[in-house]
Amino acid sequence: MEKLTHFIGGKKYAGASGRYGDVYDPATGQVQKQVPLATAGELDFAVKMAAAAFPAWAAMPALRRARCMSRLKNLLEEHKEELAGLLTSEHGKVRDDALGEVTRGLEVVEFACGAPQLLKGEFSDNVGTGVDAYSFRQPLGVVAGITPFNFPAMVPLWMIPMALVCGNTFVLKPSERDPGASMLMADLVRRAGVPDGVFNVVHGDREVVDAILAHEDIKAISFVGSTPIAKKIFAVGCANGKRVQALGGAKNHMLVMPDAPLEATLDALMGSAYGSAGERCMAISVAVVVGDETADALIAGLKPRVQALSIQPGNVEGAEMGPLITAEHHARVSGYVDLGVEEGADLVVDGRAFKHVDEPAGFFIGGCLFDNVTTRMRIYQEEIFGPVLCVVRVNTYDEAVDLINAHVYGNGVSIFTRDGDAARNFVQQIQVGMVGVNIPIPVPMAFHSFGGWKQSLFGDHHIYGPEGIRFYTRVKAVTQRWHTGIRKGADFHFPQLG
Ligand code: NAD
Repeated sequence: MEKLTHFIGGKKYAGASGRYGDVYDPATGQVQKQVPLATAGELDFAVKMAAAAFPAWAAMPALRRARCMSRLKNLLEEHKEELAGLLTSEHGKVRDDALGEVTRGLEVVEFACGAPQLLKGEFSDNVGTGVDAYSFRQPLGVVAGITPFNFPAMVPLWMIPMALVCGNTFVLKPSERDPGASMLMADLVRRAGVPDGVFNVVHGDREVVDAILAHEDIKAISFVGSTPIAKKIFAVGCANGKRVQALGGAKNHMLVMPDAPLEATLDALMGSAYGSAGERCMAISVAVVVGDETADALIAGLKPRVQALSIQPGNVEGAEMGPLITAEHHARVSGYVDLGVEEGADLVVDGRAFKHVDEPAGFFIGGCLFDNVTTRMRIYQEEIFGPVLCVVRVNTYDEAVDLINAHVYGNGVSIFTRDGDAARNFVQQIQVGMVGVNIPIPVPMAFHSFGGWKQSLFGDHHIYGPEGIRFYTRVKAVTQRWHTGIRKGADFHFPQLG
């Protein structure tokens, strides 16, 4: 059986913990490789390598670091198919979706190529007689990234190019459930000319995450994953003096107004609720529909489409939805559907019994659709992270906005309407970090920044884009006077230059 390695100091490192995690092919339900789970000592080794590489990397002109990113972009493009293949094989997502994930990650690398412009400081000349003042950004040191299973390439790429191009060195702890993409990316980073030790991958579980939180030489942590873990990472990381951005879970609503074009809304709901088997932090999991007439039409349109979903291994041509990540997650999603029935919601499409004919051991589940879901139900309140869409019926636009604003999560949201007034009011009033107007999955482009509100993000900085530059740097302010401006005599009052 294939055994993965860590990547430390520019080399593969087998790991000596003796502990391994199983990596499944979710489409067959079989273990396909094993991943070593690091100890705190192995993490320390990687941090030492990263710390040793930091001074030279930080001192390198930003333009040269940006050129490494430019080469990385080309290499990622060359290896796009290979990377997408790994995503399909370890995560289960369908091929086009996997390619889309790589493209969105690549866009962050592209953005990072402009770092010399983004890192430019501010300058004020002659703030006092013969005195100039300027401020500029410097890297933090060794920083760490901890990433989730559902975007094994894109989420690490939200962090790696941004952290590196700012002059930091990096330790990535990818999800132990689909770690293969991170190893391919490590090889590409090396081939892009990034010096040994600047980028490292340490695999593992809770043990290594706790070691990251405790390590004195790690200056900042970017975390993406579920809300309970994000909360812990933020609390412990901050208590240990680190800068932390911790992105958590979601329950994303789509508000469907009576004037929304039905076919386009149905298409958008199908892709955003069932794409990637609902395992996206920006998946739409609740449709809030204004008026019974609109809701009836929506359910009538959704039902046959959900029943007809092409559920296949991700590498099958025409597949629309692949399997879930693990058997445990399958049981969890299926358990939520049981719960929804107990809570009294109407299960319009029940995918629990779905089995793939050729791969009966695969972690497949059929699409599920609930109608008449209420805000008291746990299937409404909690993140299910599977292909389960809940329809909530309301009478008015105001009722819908109040309901969305009362939810604990605030990652993404969308409104479907032809009414410009309603759309504009929605954008202004809604308490959610990323908003779509007739766009179901409003993931910001690489030159904006990604981040939710409320329980979907802990910390002050959103990820990548301009906020990514701020997160991975700190500002130094300099006030300077040269000989010509120096006055004679000591000055004992508080300095006033102007
Ligand atoms: P997860 O929280 O289980 O795992 C995320 C990372 O934390 C992994 O690297 C894992 O090894 C580590 N981890 C897990 N349990 C831990 C523990 N007890 N202590 C320390 N570390 C631990 O998340 P997941 O299941 O891999 O990913 C799915 C979740 O991620 C969903 O909730 C989804 O909404 C969220 N997500 C959010 C975003 C976003 O941008 N907000 C993006 C992608 C995924």
